[in-house]
Amino acid sequence: MEPENILDEIAKEVSVCVKCKLHHSRKKAVPGEGPSDSEIMFIGEAPGFHENEQGRPFVGAAGKFLDSLLENIGMSKKDVYITNVVKCRPPGNRDPEQEEIDTCTSNYLERQIEIINPKVIVTLGRFSMGLYMSDVKISNVHGQARWINDRLVIPMYHPAAALHQPKLKEVIQKDFDTLPELVKQVKLRDNPQGNDPVNGDQDTSDNPSQLSLF
Ligand code: URA
Ligand code: SF4
Repeated sequence: MEPENILDEIAKEVSVCVKCKLHHSRKKAVPGEGPSDSEIMFIGEAPGFHENEQGRPFVGAAGKFLDSLLENIGMSKKDVYITNVVKCRPPGNRDPEQEEIDTCTSNYLERQIEIINPKVIVTLGRFSMGLYMSDVKISNVHGQARWINDRLVIPMYHPAAALHQPKLKEVIQKDFDTLPELVKQVKLRDNPQGNDPVNGDQDTSDNPSQLSLF
C-alpha cells in the first residue's frame, strides 16, 4: 500500500476509535494532516475547541500563530505534517492523562511516524516533548536539537503558551528560525556529496565540512 493510503487508513481508524475515554467527549477526532513524505513533523498536544469542530489540527488561534511562525521561515502548513499526541479533545481542554497518551500514541502516532519517516520532529509543548525526553524542563531544552532514533528531535514551546507571552513569543520565533538550517544539515548528512539522485551532480558549494550544528 502507498504511504498516503496507509495514512488515510490510520485516519479512518482514528475517526471511529473508542480505545480511550476521550472518545466520549469528542465531536471530530483529529488524525493529522500533511504530505506523506514530509521532512518535518510537528507534534502538538491535543485538539482544542476548533480542531474538535473541524477535525483538523491547529486551526484555532494557536494554529494561526503556527501559520505565521512557518511563514516567517518560508514554509507553510502544506509543506509539513502536523498532528498531536492524542487525537481527541480532552473535556474542557484538560491535560491528556498518561493512559490516554500511551493508548493513542501506540496505536496511531507511532505508526504515522513510521510511515512518514520525517528527518526532523518538532515537539510543541511538554506533552509531546515527554514522548522523547524525561526529566527535562522545556525552559532548559527548548530549541536544542537531539538525535533520537535517527531523527533530529527539537523541543519547542507550545504556540498557545507562547502566543500571549511576549517573552516566549520571541523565544519560539528564534527557535523556529533555526529550522531551515537544521533541515539542510540533516539532508547534507544523509547525502554528503550533495548529489541529486534524479539530476546528478549539483552545486556542491554546501560543503559537508560545514556539518557543524550537531
Ligand atoms: N493545540 C494543540 O496542541 N493541537 C492542536 O491541534 C490545536 C491546538
Ligand atoms: Fe482513540 Fe486516541 Fe481518540 Fe483515545 S484519543 S479515543 S486512543 S483516537
